[in-house]
Amino acid sequence: MTKLAYFVVALECPTCGTRADPHDNGTQTAILDYRPCPPFDPRIELGREIPDLEPFAIEDAYIMLHAPADGEAVHILETWSCRPCNAAKRPYSFWAEVVFEGRRFASMAPRPLTLALLDRCHFACQSLVLEVIHPLLGVEVLTKYTLESGDMDPGFIPLLAPYLPPE
Ligand SMILES: [Zn+2]
Repeated sequence: MTKLAYFVVALECPTCGTRADPHDNGTQTAILDYRPCPPFDPRIELGREIPDLEPFAIEDAYIMLHAPADGEAVHILETWSCRPCNAAKRPYSFWAEVVFEGRRFASMAPRPLTLALLDRCHFACQSLVLEVIHPLLGVEVLTKYTLESGDMDPGFIPLLAPYLPPE
């Protein structure tokens, strides 16, 4: 079984204000999975440079919404969760924007899901499909904008205007 890597960041919950344990923030990413040989360190600490992180590793791990330009910082829509909110049965799954500058994990910040955030992100985790596109726009729209590669044509983003704030 693959052990997923996670982002080591003390994210602050927008609902209850708790600062998540950076090692228990519900994040997970498959960007290190392509590496053929152990040792496998699942902790992606803020500022960590991943020397052999190739662009295809991010492309494989996420759904591409639009390709980053050469040398541009890569923005990824991710999710994380808050334990106290989970325990209290409040909504506990949140969105966040992860930024890689080259091979360096530059930042991760909680963000409300907005049209501007979707426009800005080059990649997104599967939750975008499962929690947003499918339930809000339906399977026909999902099928129409899913490319053969499994990536998404970003043409679906304006269709979310009735459901998401612009920014
Ligand atoms: Zn919380």
